[in-house]
This record gives sequence, structure tokens and C-alpha cells, in this order.
Amino acid sequence: MSSQTRKGKNQITLARALSKLGVASRTLAAEMIADGKVKIDGRVVRSPNLWIDLKKEKIQIAGDAARRTEKVYLALNKPVGVVTTRSDELGRPTIYDCLPDDVPWVFPVGRLDKDTSGLILMTNDTRFGERVTEPLSKIDKMYEVVLDRPLAPDDRRRLELPITLNDGTRFQPARIDDGDDRLTYLVTIHEGKNRQVRRMFEFVGYEVCTLKRIRIGSITLGALREGECRILTVREVASVRK
Ligand code: URA
Repeated sequence: MSSQTRKGKNQITLARALSKLGVASRTLAAEMIADGKVKIDGRVVRSPNLWIDLKKEKIQIAGDAARRTEKVYLALNKPVGVVTTRSDELGRPTIYDCLPDDVPWVFPVGRLDKDTSGLILMTNDTRFGERVTEPLSKIDKMYEVVLDRPLAPDDRRRLELPITLNDGTRFQPARIDDGDDRLTYLVTIHEGKNRQVRRMFEFVGYEVCTLKRIRIGSITLGALREGECRILTVREVASVRK
């Protein structure tokens, strides 16, 4: 029975172990543990912060041995009005309402605002998620943006350089390509800061009328219909792992 209270080699906390195994998010795992649903070597433990060694100790959840669940990688086309959260205190639809019932626990890789639609990746592979979101991996994200008026060449040049907002937030240069009409632009960024695209355009005096993410690295939204999800191909998953 694990009774360690200090961290040793190969040890991680119980809640993190369950998240690594793909069983649940760390928060959900902590709840399951506190509810007495988790046993180690046959005995109920209630501390999510208990240090354990996955190689030596046997975890059971409500009687079943916890096995590493298969990795799941999904692309979802989030509709406008849907929130990127597990449950919403205002009762709004969430991205989880868009998933089929048989999908195991997955988490969203980054987030999209309620008013933004388009591509969001969901997985139970924490390393994959970190790789997509960490700025160092330089995985670019492309958005289709419709503005309230055509973008003046000077303003386009400003956004194609680093900018610092009045509150001190810095954004790296964006790439801006023309879209299908005079109000539509394709904006490519490497970061994923909160409301980044909307705040960039606000900074130079434009309103974003609609915003849709259409690509993450080499993974495109393609013909995926709103509110639907698909499994990523092996090649798409590998393209992020490179
Ligand atoms: N930029 C935004 O402003 N909103 C998003 O949801 C994503 C990027």
C-alpha cells in the first residue's frame, strides 16, 4: 500500500496518474478520488495528492483495474454559441454536447470563444495537447475573419509586425492574406492568447463580424459540418508529434 507523502523517483500524484492514463481530467480524477471510487492495491484512498508509482502500484476505479485507455484524437467543428467547457453554469450548450455518447474522456486543445466557430481538437493525449498549444512548437492556426470594413494597407502592415496592446499584452506578427471578398481575410498566428484575433483587430480599429478557425498546423476543417466531429487520421496526428 502506498503511504508515501514525499515525491520519489517515478512518482506522480494520484490525480495526475489518472489523467495520464486517460481516465479523466485532473479535476474530475480528484473528485473521483475524494468520492472513494479509487483504490490502490485494494484499499480506498481519498487523497488526490498522494504520490504513487504507476509501475509498482495497482490502481482500481470502482472495482476495475485502471488501464491506459486508447488514445483518441478528434476534430470538431464548433458552432457559434457553443462554449468550450465541460459544463456551463448558464446552461449554454458545450462542445461535449457535440460528441457521440461512446467517446471516452477527452479535453479540448486550447479554446475558442463562444462567438467563434470552427476547428477545435479534442483528445485524451496530454502530450499531444501540450505540443499543439505550446508557443515553442510554432504550430500555426489559420482563421477566416470577416471585418466591418476593408482593411487599410497601413493597418495590415501594423498587424504584420509585433504589437503591444494598451494593457501591455504582446502579440507576435500575424500573416494576413486576402479571402474570397473585400471584407474577408485569412489570418495566421502561432500563439493562442485569449481572444487574440478579435483584440488584434480592435487594436487597429476594426470590428470582427465573424471568426472561424479553419486550420491548425496541417489539420484543416475541410468539409466537416457544424456541430460534427471526425477522428484525425494517423498522418494528422503524426504531423503534430514531429
Ligand atoms: N481569437 C479570438 O479572438 N477568438 C478565438 O476564439 C480564437 C482566436
